[in-house]
Amino acid sequence: MNPGLVVGIDIGGTKIAVGVADMEGRLLKTHRCKSHEERGPDPMVADAVSMVKKALEEVGGPKARPLFAGIACPGPLDQKKGIVLSTPNMTNWENYPVVARVEEALGIEARLENDANAAGLGEALYGAGSGKEFVAYFTVSTGVGGGFVENGKVLHGAQGNAAEFGHTVVVPVGGDICGCGGAGHVESYASGTAIQRRARERLRKGAQSLVRDLVDVDEVTTRELAIAARKRDPFALSCFEEAGFFLGLGIVNVIQMFNPNIVILGGGVTNVGSLLFKPVQRTVNERVMKDYQGSFTIEKAKLGDHVGVRGAIGVALNALAGKGKRQ
Ligand SMILES: [Zn+2]
Repeated sequence: MNPGLVVGIDIGGTKIAVGVADMEGRLLKTHRCKSHEERGPDPMVADAVSMVKKALEEVGGPKARPLFAGIACPGPLDQKKGIVLSTPNMTNWENYPVVARVEEALGIEARLENDANAAGLGEALYGAGSGKEFVAYFTVSTGVGGGFVENGKVLHGAQGNAAEFGHTVVVPVGGDICGCGGAGHVESYASGTAIQRRARERLRKGAQSLVRDLVDVDEVTTRELAIAARKRDPFALSCFEEAGFFLGLGIVNVIQMFNPNIVILGGGVTNVGSLLFKPVQRTVNERVMKDYQGSFTIEKAKLGDHVGVRGAIGVALNALAGKGKRQ
């Protein structure tokens, strides 16, 4: 008897990862490769499909056939049509019908989800938010993404674009430009790109710091800033203080809008640990309405590199459960 398998596919500008899981979402096999996104979407999907087929064969032999595939992709997307509308970091993905392509290649149904929503779902179901009813998720890396999960279901909103926490406004007038083209957003101050840009600007104006001994000013990234901050370099510490402050403001807004049990912070920048978490926690403690205090925790994401694939698997299992209810 076929015990039931589902597939998760996580496509991004840097890497493509796939996984095969059982009906409880337990990951049985994963594979990954570099995206080489400059090739455009068809070769990337072909790589994903061949890795899925390999993983399926390794898990269930040559006849293994999954029930459903979940796909996580950077947005914005048209989730209902299964189309990627545009992706600034992936070439020629405009209006690309990724769901149709995956369905044709694997011969099963697929469902598409925005990558941050999928990651939030993964953390809510299998990671730091496991067992929690209301989960807010922030991913802090090149940009700042968000997702909100209620009782194991992603909050989508009217167009599928709910919970873009990185693009909430924290500086109403004269704020820094954001990756989305807006200004004064959380992402304008707290993303890895923003931390690095603001640090370089201050260094060019003459700020003193240990990072000057590590690399040229124009090459300073969050990595060098973290090294210097761990040596208590005041400039580097202030860079993370500032990012944590603005991220903390975004979190205060989310707590007061959604009343989550947990706020999970994931993404590469959160690997700096307490350098970011301390100012975040302090800002939230100082600013959140007292009625909310003690009702939530702020925690680091747990799934690491597997978050996208685990999230895509959650998307597949939720889609299957939804189909069951409609029948
Ligand atoms: Zn923005």
